[in-house]
Amino acid sequence: MIFFTYRLSKGLNQISDQIDDFTEKNYTVRKQIRGNTEINRLYDKVVNLGEKIEHAQETLESSSTRLNGILTYMTDGVIATDRRGKIVLANTAALEYLNVKDQDILSRKITDVLGINENYSFRDLLESEPEITIDCENNMGEFTTLWIKFALFRRQSGFISGVVAVLHDVTEQEKNERERRLFVSNVSHELRTPLTSIKSYLEALDEGALQDPDIAPSFIKVSLKETDRMIRMILDLVTLSRMDSDTIVLEKEVINLIAFLHYQLNRFDQIVGSTETNEKQFKIIRQIPLQPIWMEIDTDKLGQVIDNLMNNAIKYSPDGGKITVNLEQTNTQVLLRISDEGMGIPKKDLPKIFDRFYRVDKARSRNQGGSGLGLSIVRDIIKMHDGFVWAKSDGKTGTTFTVVLPYAPLETDNDDEGNSWSNHPDDDH
Ligand code: ADP
Repeated sequence: MIFFTYRLSKGLNQISDQIDDFTEKNYTVRKQIRGNTEINRLYDKVVNLGEKIEHAQETLESSSTRLNGILTYMTDGVIATDRRGKIVLANTAALEYLNVKDQDILSRKITDVLGINENYSFRDLLESEPEITIDCENNMGEFTTLWIKFALFRRQSGFISGVVAVLHDVTEQEKNERERRLFVSNVSHELRTPLTSIKSYLEALDEGALQDPDIAPSFIKVSLKETDRMIRMILDLVTLSRMDSDTIVLEKEVINLIAFLHYQLNRFDQIVGSTETNEKQFKIIRQIPLQPIWMEIDTDKLGQVIDNLMNNAIKYSPDGGKITVNLEQTNTQVLLRISDEGMGIPKKDLPKIFDRFYRVDKARSRNQGGSGLGLSIVRDIIKMHDGFVWAKSDGKTGTTFTVVLPYAPLETDNDDEGNSWSNHPDDDH
């Protein structure tokens, strides 16, 4: 009897120790109790239960690790609350978007953290699961626009556990949308101005001015000038919109850039003093190396770049003067500089002149028939050639535009045949 009581108590102690181990998450099985008694079977059941707990624990841990991994590496922010609206979880992206630390927002109300408490209560979020956008400053100090979608989450029993908010960065989309709206409003404005003026001249002609030989020709001339400007603007808009929609593919060919440049400049030499240049006298100084530079470019597009820059140099130089065209080649780049002695561009305007419709002096540009789109076309074309362009000016006299194109020596045998830009155009003189 004493022996039986001893074995019973030893067995129970062993079971109790094993349960303690399991509670401490130590799933090693202690020494089995020998024999085939009730105590022994009870011990087996405890061990069995321990194995099940261990398995369940492992499954739980691995799914929680997986979930944490997913939440950490998600680019969207995720915030979860309890049923009272207090934050219980926020992933890394959410913390970065809102520029906060975990410990600063845990247990705080989601409506306060998102700064929406004036417009939404937690009950509103539960009831309408809204989609909203907020502006905030992220951890890099950048202003971002976040689109946030709220959704309820419930337990299997249907009981509401809280709200999950998904935060998506829509800064770029918002910016594009704003630019698109601005562009449409600019285009309407730009086209309405010449149309209104043409309409008023036509009305005046219709109401009798047509019979007046002193004014009729000038009214017709102005209308024609405005029509020309509209046509130019529409052509520029078509070019830009084709570049925007990526429907333009560069038609590159290997050419001698030196010959190509001389050919382009010869055209400008021929129009000095003509009506095309408002009878302005100017002189083109060429600082161009003799050695050919073979490059693969789209000649039509690059021709348009030179055309726009040269035309601007003439347009914005009231007294004509010298236009210096300088070409330089390094091992990796080709630099084309076009400098004029014109009115210059104020420093504050320099960063904006490549924007669509931006003009330093609107009236002067319009008067010269400008569309305000020439430089944005230049920038887009150069970008398509993987290059860049900028302007420099002291704001008083003269502006220099620098175009930089990537250059790598081409494997050519310098065979001139069959290439229209292969002969030195000065030879034609
Ligand atoms: P626009 O059709 O008005 O000439 P651009 O896009 O070609 O449009 O040029 C934008 C603005 O930049 C012009 O309106 C003008 O104010 C300024 N600009 C461009 N080139 C020159 C230059 N060479 N000298 C002075 N200002 C210039």
